[in-house]
Amino acid sequence: MTRSIALLGSTGSIGHQTIEVARELGLSVAALTANSSVDLIESQAREFSPRLAVLYDEAAARELRARLADTEIEVMSGMEGLLAAATLPEADTVVTAVVGMIGLRPTLAAIEQKKRIALANKETLVCAGELVMDAVDRYGAELVPVDSEHSAIFQCLQGCRDRGEIRRLLLTCSGGPFYGLTHDELENKTRADALKHPNWSMGAKITVDSATLMNKGLEIIEAMRLYRLPLAQVDAVIHRQSIVHSLVEFRDGALLAQLGTPDMKLPIRYAMTYPYRAESGAEPLDLLSCPPLAFARPDEEAFRCLHLAKRCAEKGGAACAVLNGANEEAVGAFLAEKIGFNDIAALVETALSEVDVVSNPALPDILEADRLARESVRAHIGA
Ligand code: NDP
Ligand code: MG
Repeated sequence: MTRSIALLGSTGSIGHQTIEVARELGLSVAALTANSSVDLIESQAREFSPRLAVLYDEAAARELRARLADTEIEVMSGMEGLLAAATLPEADTVVTAVVGMIGLRPTLAAIEQKKRIALANKETLVCAGELVMDAVDRYGAELVPVDSEHSAIFQCLQGCRDRGEIRRLLLTCSGGPFYGLTHDELENKTRADALKHPNWSMGAKITVDSATLMNKGLEIIEAMRLYRLPLAQVDAVIHRQSIVHSLVEFRDGALLAQLGTPDMKLPIRYAMTYPYRAESGAEPLDLLSCPPLAFARPDEEAFRCLHLAKRCAEKGGAACAVLNGANEEAVGAFLAEKIGFNDIAALVETALSEVDVVSNPALPDILEADRLARESVRAHIGA
């Protein structure tokens, strides 16, 4: 059970909700980190008095240092700061709620310190899942997923003594705001259209990933790495209501699922209290008023990103790092309104065809694959 956290990405959507859970559970906060949100991190720091506050952006960190001069809080910047926050001895748990593969090195550093990792930052597992999971085993760290689907599966697997009993993991997928549209109908979808998610309120990058279904592709890879299963044993199913958060099918044909209203605080809270459950004031799902549960197959022709992610999942090695790096870059360009919606998948596909990948990549190979993928996307956009 968690007592003190280092919260990486404290100013984002998961960061905010983790702060609420920390208040609820009376956790202490040893470190807070963000990129450049000075006002928000300052108020969080004044509330929790962590030992360390980090802004990745150097100029923003300088500003924060000046503002917190009347406190004992140390302020750092850059990757050095993120690594210091991830390895602080006072924190028993590191919540990785940064967006993007920038979270990889801090996650590995926290694992080496045998921390509990409450992992929201899926890009880390997508890019370097094998390295991360090997490190978890080697150092005896604990990794508890925060992503709602993976938390659902993690909860369903409590009491499963033999992973060989798993036949399939089924990740549910809301389908996003563009469910049912064809590839051509997606052509003119704008940033504003993509940011209207039907069920969840999340950061901009993951909301766009949910609209392209890349999010589900990344989550399939995340689940394969977490549970060391091949693609044939992990699949996605559309479930518009976001009530069933995912399922495990066992070899005797039993299906276990976790159900609830869409609320990220449940998986965040569980990652803090695991293997116990804490009292919560959250409204439980009312079965008598919830709509009939419906499921459908995702359309991989319209939503090419899901198809590409599955191909990379099969290929393994650094292909997933190329997929992720190209996607991060392309989504950034879409959010900046430099490219269209369908360009995201097209640019990722081009990067996958241009960047050579190695099998069994070490960390430098992964970082290089990520760099080349981003370069490919930038070259095609002309940025
Ligand atoms: P947000 O965009 O809301 O927040 C991102 C956080 O990361 C912010 O605190 C931001 O700081 C910080 N950050 C961004 N870039 C950097 C950087 N270069 N260095 C250091 N910190 C940085 O994202 P979400 O909270 O939505 O998502 C976080 C992660 O959790 C993602 O990997 C996402 O896929 C995953 N996730 C999110 C869910 C959700 O419901 N939101 C659900 C499941 C998974 P700043 O404010 O200064 O920019
Ligand atoms: Mg999810």
